[in-house]
Amino acid sequence: MNILIFGPNGSGKGTQGELVKQKYNLAHIESGAIFREHIGGGTELGKKAKAFIERGDLVPDEITIPMVLDTLKTKGANGWLLDGFPRNMVQAEKLWDALQAADMKLDYVIEIKLAREIARNRIMGRRLCKNNNNHPNNIFIDPIKPNGDKCRVCGGDLSTRADDQDEAAINKRHDIYYDTNTGTLAAAYYYKNLAAEGKTKYIELNGEGSIESIKNDLLSQLA
Ligand code: AMP
Repeated sequence: MNILIFGPNGSGKGTQGELVKQKYNLAHIESGAIFREHIGGGTELGKKAKAFIERGDLVPDEITIPMVLDTLKTKGANGWLLDGFPRNMVQAEKLWDALQAADMKLDYVIEIKLAREIARNRIMGRRLCKNNNNHPNNIFIDPIKPNGDKCRVCGGDLSTRADDQDEAAINKRHDIYYDTNTGTLAAAYYYKNLAAEGKTKYIELNGEGSIESIKNDLLSQLA
């Protein structure tokens, strides 16, 4: 089972992605997390990517596309959930070409829809657990409020991501996401058109609901 998930930063994409990953036992391949691992490990790729990420810019396609396609073939050989990629039309087309060339199916494309304003507020409240980035913690969302200053799931220490607290960087990321001409929504609609031709299935979710309601909506639409 191979699945792509789209949603603006702040839409709960990581949380829903984790559920999908568990349901089908998929490799969760997150381009942003791969970059953070490289930066943490001080690799050459990490050094090249760091400045772009801190500014909220996309890392150039020459670095990102081969990195993600390689990870799909290695970590994703038994099924994947791809999150954070593609972010623009070029990436969308390259991914589709690579899937065709590898004779890999794209079973579902999920789009979580959320207004830009709401997404921004949610990002600013997001906290990261040192034990697991997918433990949901957000100081502005009641059902997933941290336990004091500790992770609500495992009690781990929490931190913020530098790019989550920088409004200019958030705006830049959302400019890219909500761009329906060449940005991430353009990439999502590229797959929506493929779904209209019967080449994949496209699931649209309303991101304003609770985690539980979005989850139920999603699971009812997945086979
Ligand atoms: P994320 O964790 O998905 O918010 O990604 C963090 C940062 O990594 C983004 O703001 C970009 O700078 C970079 N990044 C992640 N995915 C991509 C991608 N598909 N293309 C280019 N840059 C990316």
